[in-house]
Amino acid sequence: MNKKFYKCPVCLKFNGTCREAISFVCKSCKALVNIKAKKHNYYIHGEQDLPDKYKKIMRLKNSQSRFDIIKNFYNDKESCFIDIGCGSGEMLEIAKKYFKNIIGYEHGKILFNSIKFKHTVYNRNFNIKDINNLNDKNVIVISICHVLEHNFNPINLIYKIISKIKSPVVLYIEVPLYTGHSFKKYQYNYKLWYEQHLALYSMKTLEFISKKLKLKIVNSGYRVFYSDNLNKKEIIKLIFTNSWGFIKSFFERKNKSNILDYIKKDYGYILLKN
Ligand SMILES: [Zn+2]
Repeated sequence: MNKKFYKCPVCLKFNGTCREAISFVCKSCKALVNIKAKKHNYYIHGEQDLPDKYKKIMRLKNSQSRFDIIKNFYNDKESCFIDIGCGSGEMLEIAKKYFKNIIGYEHGKILFNSIKFKHTVYNRNFNIKDINNLNDKNVIVISICHVLEHNFNPINLIYKIISKIKSPVVLYIEVPLYTGHSFKKYQYNYKLWYEQHLALYSMKTLEFISKKLKLKIVNSGYRVFYSDNLNKKEIIKLIFTNSWGFIKSFFERKNKSNILDYIKKDYGYILLKN
């Protein structure tokens, strides 16, 4: 029998065997690895389309709901906000309400060009020199949303950013989960199961990453994308077909979160401190 093993893109262990045709759950980090995914160079191809007006509004609302979580975990008016993979810039836009210093990083050329005159953004990776002007005591809040699942060795990606920062760091990470309602329903037809996503995560994968980085988990939970909230029929069906789950979700939900975040659980987030 062919002894080929697949390497997990998250923990880098050879945990998948050739018997799996589409995916495997990694024994170490509990990610669901997409065997058919391809590594992309987003400087060249694979970037998201520019959002239309409606999508833009939805993304702004989605960004606001992230800041409703993040804002409870730092207390410093001089702090700096950094968005890794800032896309069309909605997190940078909302960050203006809360931060004096705001920096974005985006590899995609079209997305970068669309926001470069509006924000401080770079078409490259983070460089410690970009925050040289800040005092070491100022808190650095970093968001990495829907980036890790596109990357091989996401732990190293985060490590390269935070290891050089001397200031206190608050890190908000958000990823799509395979444990949520949408993946359970659509399986490999789920729109987030595609060749750019090297793996879908579980909350255990996020915990694995925090442990490897020796960062403290200060908060974690579930989210859905704002526009995914709109299918009311589906919501009602979900509540009625899973009323025990609904009651449980209602009690486990965190103060400000949307009840749907806890019914669908399609995305997971984790807040870390160094
Ligand atoms: Zn793994």
